[in-house]
Amino acid sequence: MATKKIVIVGGGNAGLSVASKLLIKNKELDITIIDPSEKHYYQPAWTLVGAGIYDVNDTIKAEKDYIPKGTTWVKEAVSEFLPEKNTVACKNGVSYEYDVLIVAPGIQLDWQKIKGFKETLGKNEVSCNYSVTYAPYTWEMIRNFKGGNAVFTNPSTPIKCGGAPHKIMYLACDYWRKKGILDKTNVYYVSGGSMIFGIPEYAATLNKVIAEDNIHPIYNSNVVEIDGDKKMLYYEQKDEAGVNMRKELKFDLCHAVPPQSAPDFVKNSPLADAKNPYGYVEVDMHTLQHSRFPNVFSLGDACSAPASKTGAAIRKQAPVVVENILSFLNGQPATARYEGYSACPIPTKYGKLMLAEFDYSNKPKMTFPFNQAKPRWTMWMLKTKVLPWLYWHKILKGTA
Ligand SMILES: Cc1cc2nc3c(=O)[nH]c(=O)nc-3n(C[C@H](O)[C@H](O)[C@H](O)COP(=O)(O)OP(=O)(O)OC[C@H]3O[C@@H](n4cnc5c(N)ncnc54)[C@H](O)[C@@H]3O)c2cc1C
Repeated sequence: MATKKIVIVGGGNAGLSVASKLLIKNKELDITIIDPSEKHYYQPAWTLVGAGIYDVNDTIKAEKDYIPKGTTWVKEAVSEFLPEKNTVACKNGVSYEYDVLIVAPGIQLDWQKIKGFKETLGKNEVSCNYSVTYAPYTWEMIRNFKGGNAVFTNPSTPIKCGGAPHKIMYLACDYWRKKGILDKTNVYYVSGGSMIFGIPEYAATLNKVIAEDNIHPIYNSNVVEIDGDKKMLYYEQKDEAGVNMRKELKFDLCHAVPPQSAPDFVKNSPLADAKNPYGYVEVDMHTLQHSRFPNVFSLGDACSAPASKTGAAIRKQAPVVVENILSFLNGQPATARYEGYSACPIPTKYGKLMLAEFDYSNKPKMTFPFNQAKPRWTMWMLKTKVLPWLYWHKILKGTA
């Protein structure tokens, strides 16, 4: 078999994991990774940065040190997919042909969908852990808070790590309780969702924490504007007749999360799922093979598989993509299946964490021999110490 050309768009968690795993299976493969970023980020630790227990610099490494040996790195941004020609085009005008394409550019943060958000971010007590630039400011706000209204928001679109908007809220409450400030604080959680967590076993734990921390949840609500100067947040909530009512909240501290969607160059391409409002790459939810272009595969945050968008999901998606690509190259059908596994490690206090694991069935899929709905110190250690190490040393190298 002549050497097959594999092009990977995006050298983040998904792109590098899958490149490494492909090479472990067959080191003769000709793999090109296209990614313009000089830096690689371990995003799951940004929650810990916002909570003051992790140095932001430890979440950033040089991409060149993690590009698997034996692959070619093109330091450019892809701007166009031409699947009929088996080609991707980069912003600098250079095109790359492929036998197999893997699309893994993550998702984009749509800051502009909340009026005034970007302008006030990092000042006026408004922050967001979804940005490496501003996660340290979250900690500054929490540490300096003297009481008043603390507002945490969660958009109505799917986002990376659906738990991150409320993880930081529980940690902030715990910190303020220890400092004697929680009693002087009204904590609001404004969420586009209709409940705290989609799986009842894990939701029960979180609802207990919400009651203990005296958090006021405001569900089915979409934040539309943040006015940092006036310290006002505006959101829309449907009334009983289904009419959107504009409501407002005064804040003294606000951690907000922007709506998210596929990157524009994916959304506007022939690879996008036309039926999906967020423009993800259209794949079969089990094989992760494109529904219309069989030599295209996608995994991670950018793909349309209706799983929770996490690094944990990628750990189970990557071996499936690798196996199905090798089958494709051998003229065989894609038979490896991804069952929607994802995990969300949710700290409920400093030193206590609930590791929620689940799949497409929306039922708990616990891997440890104990009830993971109960927050534990061991799971806190897993999140704060073990998983970051595993990411840099094993996951990106394709060995975990
Ligand atoms: C605050 C926060 C907390 C989180 N917590 C957790 C957690 O506890 N557990 C967990 O499992 N997950 C968590 N996640 C989610 C996890 O980080 C993501 O799901 C994961 O990084 C997605 O991997 P990816 O490869 O799809 O995208 P990314 O890792 O985002 O990588 C995308 C890559 O594509 C590149 N790219 C972008 N545009 C282009 C282009 N035009 N051309 C070429 N390349 C391009 C980027 O430079 C980047 O390197 C969290 C995320 C955040 C932000």
